[in-house]
Amino acid sequence: MSDTYTDKIQEAAHRLGLKEIDSALENAFEEARKEDLSFAHALSNMFEQLALEADERSKEALIRFAKFPYRKTFDDFDFEFQTSISLTSLQSHIDEGYLSKCQNLIFLGPPGVGKTHVATSFGMAAANSRNKVQFISCSEMIARLRESKERNSYLRKLASLARPTLLIIDEVGYSTLTQDDSAMFFDVVCRRYERGSIIITSNKSYKHWGEIFSGDDVIATAILDRLLHHSKSYVLKGTSYRMKERGKETKL
Ligand code: ADP
Ligand code: MG
Repeated sequence: MSDTYTDKIQEAAHRLGLKEIDSALENAFEEARKEDLSFAHALSNMFEQLALEADERSKEALIRFAKFPYRKTFDDFDFEFQTSISLTSLQSHIDEGYLSKCQNLIFLGPPGVGKTHVATSFGMAAANSRNKVQFISCSEMIARLRESKERNSYLRKLASLARPTLLIIDEVGYSTLTQDDSAMFFDVVCRRYERGSIIITSNKSYKHWGEIFSGDDVIATAILDRLLHHSKSYVLKGTSYRMKERGKETKL
């Protein structure tokens, strides 16, 4: 291709504000010359590479936005240590499109058995498939909602919790909520009901959920009724993985 055209393309890309294309074109022209490729071939390579880089950037942005406690995936999970769940059954929710069906997933069990790890793995998988995810502990979510009430921005905060495709509420039940807090939790669940998936982790079995929500079985039942309508619950058993790791350290 004559230099007049390459200059013209570069100048147009520059005027269109396509900075990345402007600079990548130089390499594409070079590649075409060196490798004796058709210009269309070199351009196709260039756009493919730019698209891959853009995908990576948007995944990275979604993962940052989600605020996961750590970047762990199903690949990092030892299913031989935690035998109460299987990769096949967890993966089936993704394969069957739990997000588009607005289904909820709930992971119950004592500390250290892998609830947060599994919830994070679902979140990472969702973000990698270009979904907006938000990970938040129950206590932080309640603190933010309380704050928003004081600032008269409660509805806006509620709307922001309703927006992500997946909301992960971690550690429900570690502290008891007041009646006001429980009503706010109920509002979040109602706003997302049949509109967006929620993943919950909790150390308390359902029969003790009344205790979480200020001893109010009515609100606990109303929350569970909506959460469980389209959902799958898993109970993780066994000993803490943290203890296993600590055991290894002390043996060293
Ligand atoms: P919890 O059930 O209290 O939420 P976590 O999921 O946070 O526990 O697990 C505690 C730590 O142990 C994390 O670092 C997590 O990655 C790790 N862990 C727990 N279970 C497993 C497992 N089966 N395989 C690999 N790492 C695990
Ligand atoms: Mg946890």
